[in-house]
Amino acid sequence: MNLILLGAPGAGKGTQAEVIEREIGIPQISTGNILKAAVKNATPIGLKAKSFMDSGALVPDDVVIGILKERIAEPDCKNGFILDGFPRTIPQAEALEAMGVTIDKVISIEVADEKIEARLSGRRACTQCGATYHTVFNPPKTEGVCDKCGGPLVIRDDDKPETVKERLRVYKEKTAPLIDFYKGKGKLSVVIGQEEVADTSKLVLETVRA
Ligand code: ADP
Ligand code: ZN
Repeated sequence: MNLILLGAPGAGKGTQAEVIEREIGIPQISTGNILKAAVKNATPIGLKAKSFMDSGALVPDDVVIGILKERIAEPDCKNGFILDGFPRTIPQAEALEAMGVTIDKVISIEVADEKIEARLSGRRACTQCGATYHTVFNPPKTEGVCDKCGGPLVIRDDDKPETVKERLRVYKEKTAPLIDFYKGKGKLSVVIGQEEVADTSKLVLETVRA
């Protein structure tokens, strides 16, 4: 089963992708996580992608399409996969089709704009181990300090308020059109993001199993 999770940044795609991975047993593929690791390790792709990511822009299609193609060729993807953060543009969706990948379901997780901004602006990340927190929804035991490793917590460049605004703008312009793209192919299911993560997971799993 090949799945796509759509949704604005901060809608909770990554969290739900982990739940599906655990419950259904197919791997989560997050182009965002792959790119962040590439930036951290200063690989050639990471060096190319960093400035786009820090400013809230999308990394060029050819770069992410190349990454995705390599990843889905790995043996753990042979029974299916969950795409989290890909495709993010119509050309990326067309590239997926051109690779001969069949998509079974596309789940769009929808969350109101105000909630998205509140979620993203409270996000804090550990500079040492990368663990993430939220000042309101998931605070560390001691303010500004990582529970896991004691490292200092910061606002990542891509979570700065101006960048958050830009990421949402780019989402609406470039990614939201994919909702109609997949609706037109009869593949789209909409899940309304709930207050509690577990309630959203229940709806997502029902959709996957339907
Ligand atoms: P979030 O969901 O928090 O916006 P991600 O972890 O999915 O972030 O992605 C982080 C950044 O990586 C994005 O803001 C974008 O710059 C880049 N990125 C990830 N996936 C893609 C993609 N499919 N196409 C272009 N850029 C991408
Ligand atoms: Zn830490």
